Amino acid sequence: MTYDVAIIGAGPAGSSAGYELAKNGLKVILFDKKKFPRFKACGGGLSLKAYRLFDFNIDNVLEKKIKTARIFFNSSKYLELKQKDYVGFTVKREKFDLFLAEKAIEKGVEFRDNCQVTSIENQSDGIVISTEKERISSRFVIGADGALSTTARFFGMEYPDKKVSIITEIEINDSECELYNDFLCFDFGIIPGGYGWIFPCKDRLSIGVYTVKHPKNIQMYLEVFIKKQGFSDRKRMFTRRGAIIPLGGRRQNLIKDRIILAGDAAGLVDPFLGEGIYYAVKSGKLAAKCIFDFLNRDISLNKYNETIYKEIVIPFQKARKISWFVFNFTRLSYNMLKRKGNFQDFVTSIITGDRGY
Ligand SMILES: Cc1cc2nc3c(=O)[nH]c(=O)nc-3n(C[C@H](O)[C@H](O)[C@H](O)COP(=O)(O)OP(=O)(O)OC[C@H]3O[C@@H](n4cnc5c(N)ncnc54)[C@H](O)[C@@H]3O)c2cc1C
Repeated sequence: MTYDVAIIGAGPAGSSAGYELAKNGLKVILFDKKKFPRFKACGGGLSLKAYRLFDFNIDNVLEKKIKTARIFFNSSKYLELKQKDYVGFTVKREKFDLFLAEKAIEKGVEFRDNCQVTSIENQSDGIVISTEKERISSRFVIGADGALSTTARFFGMEYPDKKVSIITEIEINDSECELYNDFLCFDFGIIPGGYGWIFPCKDRLSIGVYTVKHPKNIQMYLEVFIKKQGFSDRKRMFTRRGAIIPLGGRRQNLIKDRIILAGDAAGLVDPFLGEGIYYAVKSGKLAAKCIFDFLNRDISLNKYNETIYKEIVIPFQKARKISWFVFNFTRLSYNMLKRKGNFQDFVTSIITGDRGY
């Protein structure tokens, strides 16, 4: 069977690309090695700018709509950044990613979950994709297969700057729900080169630590964070899961012939906040647009490299500078943030994504 586009990986990048391509009449197949719904280690924080990217309503899969970011310094003191509109939202990735895949299917994408892509052969008359069950051929491939992308590895385009982040979830009772309901909590100073987060879902809290450094024992920092925030006596604490975050900000070639990388596979995670869902959706959509423009307007696929560089990588280079300042001068940054004014407005707009870097 021959397709216009085969997409490897049905996270936010792959499903968003599939949705756009099928909406524009292309024949698309989407593979994921996991059976859906599937677990994905993620805080589940969704910025306002990510929410605004979709051309369909996602309210049914939102856990919480949140108006206040609570910024802690070393779990001891905090300040609040409030917004009239929302600062962000939370999702459970198993539900959210399934929903996005279903949206793509509605537009005509063929979805094969529980189906790992094992090889990609770039041949003169198309690209042959093999799974354990079948072989198909396609004119284009989008590698949206996450931080440990098989596609990128096959074609020597692997993203170099990978860090580990770790997460756990804690079941909470109704009164605690009320306590944490309205805040996205970020705790700076709790881990070198990063922060701890507490994001509320309807029935549980997502708690984790993120860092741009390589601390020897990231698990220990999570333990300390959980303890300092008063959750260490918890009976219902879910397994801790570590996963890779590819921190963006490097210029990269994301195209090999007719194979294009998007999302984490392309190393597109904000190197300050660790936000990746927005960039996965955005790059998935851009990859789809570039394929469409190549086919219909004779615009070179290389436009994708240029657009990603201009719209994502350059802002990430600024984010790296902010990240360096905040993580090296955390107390000073916290004190600056306490004062109403430009810095406070700037940080709030970065969290919501209103202004960007
Ligand atoms: C601990 C942690 C917390 C995070 N918290 C946040 C947060 O709160 N907010 C935020 O915006 N970002 C967060 N991120 C980043 C975010 O999770 C990622 O940036 C985002 O999931 C990237 O989406 P994606 O579609 O590129 O890849 P993924 O969501 O990783 O999807 C890739 C898919 O490819 C599939 N796949 C892989 N290999 C193959 C293969 N060979 N064949 C078929 N399928 C394959 C996988 O099963 C997977 O479903 C966090 C990351 C981590 C690690």
